[in-house]
Amino acid sequence: MSGTVDPVLIAGRIAEIESALPAGIELVAVSKFQPVDAVRAAWEAGQRRFGESRVQELLEKIPLLPDDINWHFIGHLQTNKVRQIIGKTSLIESVDSLRLLNLIEKESNASGVMTDVLLQVHVAAEETKFGFSRQELEDYFASGAFRELSNTRLCGLMAMATNTSEQSVVRRDFAEAADIFRNISQSYGEQLPQFRSLSMGMSGDWPTAVEEGATIIRIGSAIFGPRIY
Ligand SMILES: *Cc1c(COP(=O)(O)O)cnc(C)c1O
Repeated sequence: MSGTVDPVLIAGRIAEIESALPAGIELVAVSKFQPVDAVRAAWEAGQRRFGESRVQELLEKIPLLPDDINWHFIGHLQTNKVRQIIGKTSLIESVDSLRLLNLIEKESNASGVMTDVLLQVHVAAEETKFGFSRQELEDYFASGAFRELSNTRLCGLMAMATNTSEQSVVRRDFAEAADIFRNISQSYGEQLPQFRSLSMGMSGDWPTAVEEGATIIRIGSAIFGPRIY
């Protein structure tokens, strides 16, 4: 990972997004594939929440950066890597199967930590995106199995819209995710007081996500510029 980091540019973009964000909505700076210097520049501008999508990269960055960073894991998490990140994240946003949820619970229990997670809901048209369907989520909550979680806190949902420039399609996806989120909150909110976050919206579509009810947005390229793969 190399490339020129412009701290003034990064700080300016963060300030611009923050000033456009309604109060209470959390900005996650998605730092995947970005150099440590870029993360540090954002940190110096006051940013404390960062998103990473690969376990290896997250584990490499953590010791090189200030320890007051809240790391959000936002990528597909392979079950064989769960143990490596337990206790290192402030939020795992991309829990996309019950198998993964149960493993996070087991490893968190073994490590004696509480892990905050979001369940990823699949609303996009693409077949390839990971996540629970609306039906799968409804079945899971109706089963009451969430009450048995002792070391995992269900904090809400994460969603990605269809990858298209057509904002009507994107809006429909976000509205669907928000509807699922509201239904779960209404039915189970008393038992899950921390179920309050709806993470949706990226560089190209975050204003639409905010209009549809996002409480967390995840912005990469609009802060850091293009990723260096
Ligand atoms: C990469 C990524 C983002 C950020 O994408 P940008 O378009 O660069 O803002 C947001 N969410 C997830 C899950 C991602 O993988």
